[in-house]
Amino acid sequence: MWDASKCDFCGDCLVKCRNVDYDKERAASEIKLLIEGKTADILDSCITCNACVDYCPTGADPANLIVMMQEKTMTGPIAINYKSIVDILVQGLEDDIGDSELLEGAPDKPVLSFDSFHFNQFPEGTLDSKLFKGMTVARGNKYMSLVGAVHMGGESLARKYGQKVIDRLAKLGKDIVYLHNEGYTLAHVKAKELDINVPFKYLHLFEYLRDYLKSNESEITKLNRKVAYQPNCAVRWFHKQDDWLDEIFELIGVKRASREYEGVNALCCSAPVILTDKELAMEIQKNNMEDIIDSGAEALVTICPVCDAVLRRPTTQFNLNKIFITDLCRMALGEIPWPES
Ligand code: SF4
Ligand code: SF4
Repeated sequence: MWDASKCDFCGDCLVKCRNVDYDKERAASEIKLLIEGKTADILDSCITCNACVDYCPTGADPANLIVMMQEKTMTGPIAINYKSIVDILVQGLEDDIGDSELLEGAPDKPVLSFDSFHFNQFPEGTLDSKLFKGMTVARGNKYMSLVGAVHMGGESLARKYGQKVIDRLAKLGKDIVYLHNEGYTLAHVKAKELDINVPFKYLHLFEYLRDYLKSNESEITKLNRKVAYQPNCAVRWFHKQDDWLDEIFELIGVKRASREYEGVNALCCSAPVILTDKELAMEIQKNNMEDIIDSGAEALVTICPVCDAVLRRPTTQFNLNKIFITDLCRMALGEIPWPES
């Protein structure tokens, strides 16, 4: 969450931003304008990649300031383009309506939260996998993480409706496993910032997968593969998930390829601008694919269904395997084969 008291106007956030070409003075003046509640050029240029959360040396969270101001001033192609969708989401949250599903599982198993996604946005067979067998499954608007709304000019949704979503999950009376890391971000990061009470135990998908694999190590056949990883932008709010991923890779015999666009330098998948600036989206995708090929990776591993969908076309075009993280674990467990090239 934006913390003005931590900002010393060093300008690092917007000097390092890949989407603008500011010097330190210009960068600092953009931040000053936003703090004063005024519009600024960055609101038009920001693609909501979240990278400046990492670029800021003081932890002031400039990305949050920017997305707050995009929504407040309705400035920038992202906020304008997605306004009608945010309005529909808000109406659904206000009126408790919208498309949602709850599939009851075994009483002793946790809930698997699909956030607002549809089942078919995850790989075929996910729910039948031994990884998740018997779990209660919740999906749809009632259980949406809300934090991803920053990519649509809806920064305030987590603040306004976060407690409502958490309360619905709490009513299920079980531990929650978040299949999408933005749900985990709401419970673990935004809840603390926004004073939201989370009265249940929750796990990130990577924690759950790591624990499952550790408990079933005898069933694993090491894959002996080298992969590149496409983090989704929620990793900027919580980096520990990257350590959990490394533990998963170690357990299943996967090596993470060394890339230029890795960690702090990771590229956005391009989803926020796919409708508003197609040329920029194509350029980001091309840079990403070429970097993966240069790294010698045999596949790209994804965690987010949005990144996964957006990267379907470029991975096909560049003849790269793309594997969702749950499928990668299923391969090591012998449930599905490594994809043909
Ligand atoms: S969120 Fe990304 S695009 Fe927006 S200002 Fe920060 S680094 Fe630049
Ligand atoms: S938000 Fe952080 S990086 Fe940006 S000007 Fe302030 S202190 Fe510097």
